[in-house]
Amino acid sequence: MTKHIFVTGGVVSSLGKGLTSASIGMLLEARGLRVKMQKLDPYINVDPGTMSPFQHGEVYVLDDGSETDLDLGHYERFTSTLLTRDSNYTTGQIYLSVINKERRGEFLGKTVQVIPHITNEIKEVVKKLADDETDVVITEIGGTVGDIESLPFLEAIRQIPIDVGRENCMFIHLTLVPYLKAAGELKTKPTQHSVGILRQIGIQPDVLVCRTERALDVGDREKIALFCNVPLESVIEERDKDFSIYEVPLSLQSNRIDELILRRFHLTAKAADLEQWHEILHRLRNPEHEVSIAVVGKYAEHRDAYKSIYESLDHGGIDRRTQLRVQPINSEDIEEEGAERLLAGFDALVVPGGFGERGIEGKVKAIRFARERGLPFLGICLGMQCAVIDFARNVAGLEGAHSTEFDRSSPHPVICLLEEQKDVTDKGGTMRLGAQPAVLAAGSRSEQAYGTREVSERHRHRYEFNSNYRARLEAAGLVIAGTNPDDSLVEIVELADHPWFVAVQFHPEFKSKPTAAHPLFAALVTAAVERHAGSAWVAES
Ligand code: GLN
Repeated sequence: MTKHIFVTGGVVSSLGKGLTSASIGMLLEARGLRVKMQKLDPYINVDPGTMSPFQHGEVYVLDDGSETDLDLGHYERFTSTLLTRDSNYTTGQIYLSVINKERRGEFLGKTVQVIPHITNEIKEVVKKLADDETDVVITEIGGTVGDIESLPFLEAIRQIPIDVGRENCMFIHLTLVPYLKAAGELKTKPTQHSVGILRQIGIQPDVLVCRTERALDVGDREKIALFCNVPLESVIEERDKDFSIYEVPLSLQSNRIDELILRRFHLTAKAADLEQWHEILHRLRNPEHEVSIAVVGKYAEHRDAYKSIYESLDHGGIDRRTQLRVQPINSEDIEEEGAERLLAGFDALVVPGGFGERGIEGKVKAIRFARERGLPFLGICLGMQCAVIDFARNVAGLEGAHSTEFDRSSPHPVICLLEEQKDVTDKGGTMRLGAQPAVLAAGSRSEQAYGTREVSERHRHRYEFNSNYRARLEAAGLVIAGTNPDDSLVEIVELADHPWFVAVQFHPEFKSKPTAAHPLFAALVTAAVERHAGSAWVAES
């Protein structure tokens, strides 16, 4: 019988429910259990693909092409669970499915209502994950307890224990225990209120994970236990981690959360094997090198917009025992102040993906600077397209070269709409999405980094390298280092006469883990370390 863990959040948003859920998943896997993970989001968009990263952070893409919440990135980085379309549902998706059923007449004349029709639909998507190959399904409920919009989800998970047995379900509530300076103490009242709301709905949490900046003392824990109706040992402290998010699972483990879960479910499991995680922290604490890397994009001030990029850079640092100072830089500032002023002193440049014209010329300038100065460079998606634009304009002499995304009347549309996109009008879920194979050129930097010539990487784009310009750009020195298997789409461009200049149409950041850094990020960090060590580079021409 598959067990269900439901993770809810209270008091405030941004408590790190995703990280906590992922950490629990990781700890259960470390004890040999087979885990599946899922997030239910209360907003009405069918998926986050149509939302601005300003609103909701990055859109995380899965192998199967679904555009999902960024918390799924934590799940993939922390666990080996296979994520699919079934791993992320929104209110919009649930309603869409119920309304489609109603239009097909599947409700046989009944009035269609939130309870039971919407809640049944929610229960179905949760129970769907329970199968013979799964010991535990972890379902994270987005939003904060008390929000109107998350009510149907809470009602649905209240009902699931009635269907599958209370003994097979566990409710973990993540809450905040703030420290009030004026009073000089931690305050448990918000937690009491938030658990109060859950209990009104009919959910009695089994475990409370308390986010706090100071240690909870026995008195605090006793008070929380008494007022929230849980055993003392089920009040777990999750102290703020200033050093690294990779401390979270280890801290939860030292608070014995895995023990509590196993005991609650009457499961026996081997001791946790956490050697790899201790090694990650050991490496983070004992770096052998130090480099600084600039990330030039449109959302410099908003870290969640490039979440997986920053994580992947960290993984490269862990892999190469290098401490990174990663500095987001707004591409519009480069337009105004110049690349020379803002990028001098960095050891590498990353230009991530994006949409829309704002800041494009700043990205092109930044890449030109990296190209001309031998600054190690990784371009991703729009970053790759900007690298092609710079090369076309400033090396191949194609004046006015641009992407048709930004200039439809460019005399040299070196980046153009993918053929398959020409008749697409709907915005949601219609890009070239998900895992696609690519073949790497022998002897390329990419082949050296991956150590293989066949790779599979995740995509999310509508525009591509215009093949009509392939011969001209190659003749001018651009290296086509990777294409799709039939050689019709360019997936990677590089420069030969440069320490490390690699730009990819796909998103390597969605396949990097702290325990297995993505080869391109690891290679970028290596190049940055070499640059930092001072090997001066002079262009041949
Ligand atoms: N806007 C570009 C395209 O649609 C790049 C997309 C991206 O960077 N994800 O092709």
